[in-house]
Amino acid sequence: MKLHFELLELRQKEKRITSEILNKLQEMEDQKAYLKMGHPSLFDYLARGLGYSEATAYQRQACVRLAKEVPEIKQKIDQGSLTLSAVTTAFKHLRKKPVAEKRKVLKSMENKSSREVKAMFLEPTPTLKIKKTEYKDKVHLRLELSHEQNRKLEQLKALKSHTHNIEGLLMDLIEKELKSYENVQRKSSKSTESKEFGTSKSKNLRQISKRLRNDVLKTANYRCQFPGCESDHFLQMDHIFPVRNGGDQRRSNLQILCARHNQWKG
Ligand SMILES: [Zn+2]
Repeated sequence: MKLHFELLELRQKEKRITSEILNKLQEMEDQKAYLKMGHPSLFDYLARGLGYSEATAYQRQACVRLAKEVPEIKQKIDQGSLTLSAVTTAFKHLRKKPVAEKRKVLKSMENKSSREVKAMFLEPTPTLKIKKTEYKDKVHLRLELSHEQNRKLEQLKALKSHTHNIEGLLMDLIEKELKSYENVQRKSSKSTESKEFGTSKSKNLRQISKRLRNDVLKTANYRCQFPGCESDHFLQMDHIFPVRNGGDQRRSNLQILCARHNQWKG
């Protein structure tokens, strides 16, 4: 029994430390202090700076982000009525929902097992009914949607306001998907070239020749050149001295930064 009480006490301490860490991480996120240290994101800081596993880093980051909008979850985590994994699941599924809804769903998650929490977000995967008839000169597709599926389609159509009809929207989506696959193939054949460059229409890239661009990338070893940062995601070309302050397009004025550090540098 003594052992049990010792463990109970340690468990209490563990909870306290977890919540202390979350509070400090919140400060870190608010100040974006990790950027200066060379980390492109709080996640990167947690994983590389503090040595958390990727899964745990993701959990901690999810908590910090969600607690910013719904601060009372920190207390719930302390008390044990919300687990970090439940909060992470909520974060994944509620990302784009309004705060009021997040609050409501989080409340309903209290004291549930992580399996129960996961089940809350499981949607029966609805199947689309499509009837396809091929003619010599065309193909007829008859698409049957549930009202819910139709609502989503209408929503997407409204969001993509430049397309006025379903036909345009579908062709748009098909083209976009195809293009993204082509980019992936092109990328894998060129091996290491970063994603951002495949599709980027950023102004400064257009002015810089492909050869120069590749040279800068190669020198940077296809990674962000901000001291300490090793991100190979969303790489962008940066003018060390900004063009607006008289910086030029010469090789010596160019470097590679990840999007976060480029943005932070301003
Ligand atoms: Zn960076």
